[in-house]
Amino acid sequence: MRYISTRGEAPALGFEDVLLTGLASDGGLYVPESLPHFSLEEIRSWRGLSYSELAFNVMYPFVNDAIPEEDFRKMLTETYAGFAHQAVAPLVQLDTNEWVMELFRGPTLAFKDFALQLLGRLLDYVLEKRKQHVVIMGATSGDTGSAAIEGCRHCEHVDIFILHPYQRVSEVQRRQMTTVLGDNIHNIAVKGNFDDCQRMVKESFGDQSFLGGKTQLAAVNSINWARIMAQIVYYFQASLALGGPDRSMAFSVPTGNFGDIFAGYLAKKMGLPISQLVIATNRNDILHRFMSGNRYEQHKLEHTLSPSMDIMVSSNFERLLFDLHGRDGAAVKELLENAAKGPVSIEDYRWRHARKLFDSDAVDDKTTCDTIREVFEQNEYLLDPHTAIGVKAARNCRRDTSVPMITLGTAHPAKFPDAIAESGLSVKPQLPPHMADLFEREERYTVLDNDVAGVQGFIAEHWKNA
Ligand SMILES: *Cc1c(COP(=O)(O)O)cnc(C)c1O
Repeated sequence: MRYISTRGEAPALGFEDVLLTGLASDGGLYVPESLPHFSLEEIRSWRGLSYSELAFNVMYPFVNDAIPEEDFRKMLTETYAGFAHQAVAPLVQLDTNEWVMELFRGPTLAFKDFALQLLGRLLDYVLEKRKQHVVIMGATSGDTGSAAIEGCRHCEHVDIFILHPYQRVSEVQRRQMTTVLGDNIHNIAVKGNFDDCQRMVKESFGDQSFLGGKTQLAAVNSINWARIMAQIVYYFQASLALGGPDRSMAFSVPTGNFGDIFAGYLAKKMGLPISQLVIATNRNDILHRFMSGNRYEQHKLEHTLSPSMDIMVSSNFERLLFDLHGRDGAAVKELLENAAKGPVSIEDYRWRHARKLFDSDAVDDKTTCDTIREVFEQNEYLLDPHTAIGVKAARNCRRDTSVPMITLGTAHPAKFPDAIAESGLSVKPQLPPHMADLFEREERYTVLDNDVAGVQGFIAEHWKNA
């Protein structure tokens, strides 16, 4: 499988290189040159497979030459054995034909584990083969950092440095990062805000000379193709569990960077009958404004009760725009260059084409809390604020009640106790047993000044073979 850039100018790459590359050199994102397509008969034959067997069938066409079949199977078995539920992505029923798919049974209690648990293994496998080492550098305001750290903790050829804003992440989120103790894991608390952390990461990627040419930086943010690939699988899993592919499904997806829902779009293109995808946003609603009015315009960032969806622009949306423009990289490049300067629209027929599949909704903090309370009162089931936004948007956008509506449950409620409290419920979400002692575990992190040279110096000194 070859991968091409959404801006049409960077060289095509194979799977291994795409894994180790963040942005393409032309500023675009990598996408597969063509998608595998499965017939209904083939998909039907996957009923009853375990999650990791299904994952193999869905993903292997993207990997093929890069990794022998049996090695990839083993990697998948190990990855999903680490989830605290036999079904890996269990479905919970909320109402007639309405479901939540719990994607938070992995080590850090958020759906990002599905991809990052696999990504760590893929990286180590490829680096071992190539006798290479990488330094992963990332900034986090919460979920991504812990999922990336958990994903890389056993990697021999990876050192990971995660920057978080000192005293500005929740205690659960900080502890999920800082209690993972390993020689290759480095948590840096920067005396600044999240934007400062992100700026330092960006600058470091731009000029890696501080590493002295002895290793290179790698990115694990959601523009990494392997993360999208791993997220396609659970759409198939949910559909097969509810009578697919002989009936179509609707999904509602709490959306930030558009990675998770883009995977659903790919599942449809690969042959899975999906009749509706609901983009559920919080007040950072650039995608909702685009889908409802064909106007793509950045607003300033709002802080909400669903912090993992607090974004100004959704980087993966570029991958959809590429398809909507007939895979014309030059057109995407022009559109996004204009979008950086002010509001843009796309041709009406392209926008209407997108609207056949996608609906959208924006849910504010108050409605998020109301939904948490409502669903708890209806079902004695506790939603985290991100998932609550998905459920609310699903209910608002539903087109056909005979089609199963599945909301992706992106995080465990115990990660966001403040939102639960704000919803007025007196129940306290409990951390699951494997995390129950989180508040007693030893923490390890280094506090550094808001100064890129200091942070780079720390990294240069502390990676394994420095
Ligand atoms: C990352 C995240 C999201 C958003 O996912 P995208 O792929 O960025 O759209 C939603 N909910 C939670 C809990 C997350 O951690």
